[in-house]
Amino acid sequence: MLGCVAQQEGEKIFERAPHVSLVCGSASYRKLPQMLAQLEAGKSEAPNPAARKVQAESLIRITGLDDRETDKCFETEFTARTNPHRGYITIIEGCDKFCSYCVVPFTRGKERSRTAESVLAEARQMADLGYTEIQLLGQNVNSYKDPTGGSSGKKKTFAELLAAVGEVPGIRRVRFTTSHPRDFGRDIVDAIDAVPTLCDHVHLPVQSGSDRVLNAMQRLYTREQYLERIAWMKSAKREISITSDIIVGFPGETEEDFAETLALLDEVGYDSVFTFKYSPRPNTPSLALDDAIPDQEKSRRLKR
Ligand code: SF4
Repeated sequence: MLGCVAQQEGEKIFERAPHVSLVCGSASYRKLPQMLAQLEAGKSEAPNPAARKVQAESLIRITGLDDRETDKCFETEFTARTNPHRGYITIIEGCDKFCSYCVVPFTRGKERSRTAESVLAEARQMADLGYTEIQLLGQNVNSYKDPTGGSSGKKKTFAELLAAVGEVPGIRRVRFTTSHPRDFGRDIVDAIDAVPTLCDHVHLPVQSGSDRVLNAMQRLYTREQYLERIAWMKSAKREISITSDIIVGFPGETEEDFAETLALLDEVGYDSVFTFKYSPRPNTPSLALDDAIPDQEKSRRLKR
C-alpha cells in the first residue's frame, strides 16, 4: 500500500488489513526496490512470521520524517510511464501551505524542488524517446525554487522552467498541475502567451468564493486576489481555459458564504470545475472546527 494515507496511517494499516504485506509512504518510494527484495527474501525463509518482520522493520524506516525535513532538494529515480505520448515529470514535492483541511503537508513534508537542470535533462530524454507531451507535477508547482541554478548559476523561476521545457525540441505540449493562487505569478501567463507549446489551460483551485471561509481554510488569499489572477488570464493574448476545485460545506459555511461561491462561479465562467463535499481528515486543524454542516445540506450545495 503506497501514498499519503500509507504515510499517515503507518502501522495501523497492518492491524486493519492483515493481508497487506507492505506499507510505503510517499517519502520513501526510493526504498521500494530494497523493501520488495527484503519482503521476497523474508517470504522465502519463513513465509508468514519473517515476512511480517520485514514489514515492521520497513515501516519504522518509512514513517520517519527527519530526513525529509532537512532535504531541500530531491531527485526522482523511478517514474512509471504507461502512455507512449504523454509523460509526467515531478518538479517539486511536499507543501508548505498547511490549508486547514489537508493532510499533504503532514504526509509529504516540506517543499523540495528538483534542479531545473535535471528536469530539463529528463524532458530532453523523454523527447528522445518519442514523448510529445509533458506534464509538470507538484503539490504546488508555482512555489518551485531551483535549488542550484546549475552550471550557469542562474536559478530558474517556475515560469522560466515551464518555458524552457516548452522549448525542448520534439515536445509539442506542456501542462502543469497543481497551482496555488497565492504563488501564481503573472509571469506564468506571459510564458503561456510567449511559448506556443505551453497548453492554454490553467487549473487554479479556488475552493470557496467567501473570504470568511477562505480564511478558515487558511488558503492565504482573498477572493479579490484570486480574481486578480483570473483577470491576468482573461487579458492574455491567447484564450486561456480556466478550471478549478471547489469544496462545499466547509465547517461554518453559511448560506451567504455559499452564495458567494456560486457568484464567483458565475463571474469567472470556468470551463470545468471539480466539486467536492468537505470531509474531515485525521489530524488536520479543521477537524477541531465547530459548526459541521449536515451531510444532506452538503449534498444539496454540491448539487447546486
Ligand atoms: S496547497 Fe494543496 S497540498 Fe498544500 S496544504 Fe493546501 S490543499 Fe494541501
